[in-house]
Amino acid sequence: MTETIQQITPAQFVALFNRIGEAIEAEKGWLSDLDGVIGDGDHGVTMAIGWTAVREALAGIGADKSFTDICNTAAKAFLNAVGASAGPLYATAFMRGGAALKGRETLDAATMVAFIEAAAQGIVDRGKAEPGDKTMVDAWMPAVAAAKAALADGKSLADCLQAAASGAESGMKATADMTAKKGRSSKLGERSLGHMDPGAASTFITLRTMAQGVAALTN
Ligand SMILES: [Mg+2]
Repeated sequence: MTETIQQITPAQFVALFNRIGEAIEAEKGWLSDLDGVIGDGDHGVTMAIGWTAVREALAGIGADKSFTDICNTAAKAFLNAVGASAGPLYATAFMRGGAALKGRETLDAATMVAFIEAAAQGIVDRGKAEPGDKTMVDAWMPAVAAAKAALADGKSLADCLQAAASGAESGMKATADMTAKKGRSSKLGERSLGHMDPGAASTFITLRTMAQGVAALTN
C-alpha cells in the first residue's frame, strides 16, 4: 500500500498551483453564477483570469526557485491580471504565504498549515472584513482553525489539507445565512440571505484542490 507524501518540493508546489488554476477554470461558471445572484457576476471569470496569469507566469519559472520566489511570482501575476477586488487580496495572500515559507526546502504539514494561516491573515489584513461579513474570510478562517486542529492532532500533510478544505466548505455553506456587509453585495442587505458568497466558494475550491492534489501524490 502506498502512503501519501509527508512533504512536497517547490516543483510539486507549482504543480498544486497549476491544479488550482485548472479547478477554478472548471468552476468559473458556478462561481460567476453565485456572484450573479448577489454581486456583479464576474467572480468566476475574474478568478480564472488571475489563476491563468499565475499558471502562465509559473510555466516559465526556473527549477531552482524557492517557495517564496514561486509565491511572489504568483502574487505579481495575479495582481497584474486582476487589479480590483480579489486581485490585491490574493496578491497579499501569496506574498504573506510565501514569506512564511522563507528558507524552506520542503513543505511539510506544519509549514503547509503556516502557509495557509499566513495567506488567510493577509486576506484579513488587506480586506478588513470581519468574520460574519459574508466574504471569503468566512471560509478562510474556519479552514485555518480546522487545519491547525488537525496539525495539533498529529495528522498528515494530506489530512491537514483535507481538514482545511472541510473547514472552508462549512464556512462557505454558512455564508448563506449571513447578510453581506462588505462589497457590492452589501447593497442587497437582507436580500443576500440564502445565497452563498462566491469568494467563500472559490476559497473552498482552492483548498479542496490543494487537498486532492497532495492526496494524489504518493511516495
Ligand atoms: Mg463580482
